[in-house]
Amino acid sequence: MDDYQFKYWPYQYPLQPPLLTHHGFWEIREGMILQLCDRQGRVGWGEISPLPWFGSESLAQALAFCRQLPDRISEERVLGIPSHLPACQFGFESAWSSLQNLDAEADLSQLTYSALLPAGEQALQAWQLLWHQGYRTFKWKIAVYPWEQEQRILAQLVATLPSSAQLRLDANAGLDWLQATQWLQCCDQINHGEALPRIEFLEQPLAVDQFPALLDLSRRYATPLALDESVATLRQLQACYHQGWRGIFVIKPAIAGSPRQLRRLCHEYQLDWVASSVLETTIGRQAGLQLAATLPVSAPGNRRAVGYGTQTWIPDAQLIAGDADPFAPPAPEP
Ligand SMILES: [Mg+2]
Repeated sequence: MDDYQFKYWPYQYPLQPPLLTHHGFWEIREGMILQLCDRQGRVGWGEISPLPWFGSESLAQALAFCRQLPDRISEERVLGIPSHLPACQFGFESAWSSLQNLDAEADLSQLTYSALLPAGEQALQAWQLLWHQGYRTFKWKIAVYPWEQEQRILAQLVATLPSSAQLRLDANAGLDWLQATQWLQCCDQINHGEALPRIEFLEQPLAVDQFPALLDLSRRYATPLALDESVATLRQLQACYHQGWRGIFVIKPAIAGSPRQLRRLCHEYQLDWVASSVLETTIGRQAGLQLAATLPVSAPGNRRAVGYGTQTWIPDAQLIAGDADPFAPPAPEP
């Protein structure tokens, strides 16, 4: 059995500007880049980018796991990481699969991308540049400002967006039942009579512990609902599926867990899924896109834009791996 030399480098970079969601400001992205090197000297890269408030392990837990590993690790170990470390499962398995060339055939050209808009009024300006960059699907965070204010902004956004643009609304579990029904009525009105629904879906209106209400809501309105926080890990995804969820599943490959298991579940359940970023660096992003390009879709033509249009938040070339000493203090500004 193969074994691999294993190295890892923690990273940290500021999100610019900080991302505002219902959970508040997210200012710093922390994670780890890892490298597996086989006996022929070939190198596979992976990224561990946890999102603990979404239900993944914390960076401290991921670091503790990596620290206790020896310098050389077996394939069995790479593929046998326990499910309570889903971001580690993704990082190690994607490094391993890049060494196996398992995803070499993935054709990324078939993917379309959804761009993340800033919350509140800034969205009214922000979409224009993104539109010119080629984006046709936009995601806007709601449940950040008062309802009346966001409703006014949405009306303006819908009135000004070109008719071929689609909008996703993401509440990050920040609505109550009444607010959710108000938003959905409003979405149904906007979508009424449109050939291409202007509002593609409303994402995670209610908290994770309100699954029966989410299911109920999904059956009352024409506008589709997507689960995100509720299905962060494969275990949660399976639980929601078995409790009857047949709406959209937002899959964040970087924290979902093992890509091989994810592929199997998508196939078995014929999930209607949307892949989405966790503001990882290029390494995790590439692995996530490779996975998204090869996951089975629920029906032909049902390939939804992937939520990886988040580049404005991530500075370029922030990779800390390679020959650099990641623990060295940053060089002074010239
Ligand atoms: Mg979301």
